Amino acid sequence: MNITSIQNNTESMRIVLKSGKEQSVRRYHPWIFSGAIKKIYGDPTEGDIVEVYDNKGEFLALGHYQLGSIAVRILSFEKTVPDKEFFRGMIAAAIDYRKKLGFFDSEVTNVFRLIHAEGDNLPGLIADYYNGVVVLQMHSAGMYRIRKEIAGIIAEIIGDKVTAVYDKSESTISYKSGIKVENEFLVGKSQPVIVTENGYRFFVDWTTGQKTGFFIDQRENRKLVQLYSSGRDLLNLFGYTGSFSVYAMKNARMVHTVDSSGVAIRLADENIKLNYGDDGRHKSFQADAFEFLAESRNKYDMIILDPPAFAKHNDVLSNALQGYKRLNLKAIENIRPGGIIFTFSCSQVVSKENFRKSVFAAAASTGRKVRILHQLGQPSDHPVNIYHPESEYLKGLVLYVE
Ligand code: SAH
Repeated sequence: MNITSIQNNTESMRIVLKSGKEQSVRRYHPWIFSGAIKKIYGDPTEGDIVEVYDNKGEFLALGHYQLGSIAVRILSFEKTVPDKEFFRGMIAAAIDYRKKLGFFDSEVTNVFRLIHAEGDNLPGLIADYYNGVVVLQMHSAGMYRIRKEIAGIIAEIIGDKVTAVYDKSESTISYKSGIKVENEFLVGKSQPVIVTENGYRFFVDWTTGQKTGFFIDQRENRKLVQLYSSGRDLLNLFGYTGSFSVYAMKNARMVHTVDSSGVAIRLADENIKLNYGDDGRHKSFQADAFEFLAESRNKYDMIILDPPAFAKHNDVLSNALQGYKRLNLKAIENIRPGGIIFTFSCSQVVSKENFRKSVFAAAASTGRKVRILHQLGQPSDHPVNIYHPESEYLKGLVLYVE
């Protein structure tokens, strides 16, 4: 399926919204939920581009159609032709933004997010750059259909700073209509690479790693961990690649990395070794974070809590908030006086306010004096689309516990 053939069908495929449901589209929110739809014309299948109209017949937007709760991911609020040139323009804008911010010229960092879905007005498309290798993750059938064109456009625009483009959409998109999604190289080929971030080195294997291979979104927060960890005994829970531990090891007295996955623990050990050789200050433990924390009274004076998303959907929100409260409570209770806690939530459905309330409730149950030193978020290569509050998914607090 090429882009031109999708474009030819667009005219006849129309979605009309229920009265009143056009308001969020007029405020440029890029999603249309299935419940907002009054009628669908032209029998679109997953991944087709559809036009969206209000109840009075006025054009609102066009976007990728999907079966599921988010029925349309909007690509344009203007009646443009969504052909290859359109996508080239959008991708070029995302890359140009990173160029202007200096990501391509950095001497200390060669890993960053290249395209951040809604944050770059390209809903459904994630692209991460790993020292020459671009890893794609599609969250919509529409983007998956045109993956080869997308890979080609990225390689063409970036030129010799790209050696390969890999598509890793198997775990992120499920075609309801049953088309098989397979991970594969779309441009060139590459073995796993070593990337550099703020001068530190990390192994990245996109085939076996979580998400696209590395949690790039914590780059700036890791720097802050390095700043505060000097001379401290640090516990890094949910450590995965050990990235926080690597930064902390610069000056910490002792660093313990905990993850429930053996693969993650081996990766963390490798990354510590890559940066520090055999260094007795670091130890890793394959264990449950909640249980490990329960037995750590007064052992640490710095704790990192960076759990996986506790809530992926709104219907499990209250469970997730309880989870954050339980975790933070244990950390606040057990940390030494004068301790520092970095606590994060990467759940899109948990708002900054809700997260802060959970941490507040946790602190209140311990009765300890707690100050907020910093309120953290995501870096500029993960931009937040102002019309799409859900793009602001990473939230963090740095706490000082007396
Ligand atoms: N802090 C990491 C990213 C964390 S991803 C970084 O900077 O790269 C979440 C990690 O939590 C995963 O590696 C997963 O294996 C681990 N995990 C999930 N549930 C866990 C639990 N109950 N106890 C310990 N680790 C857990």
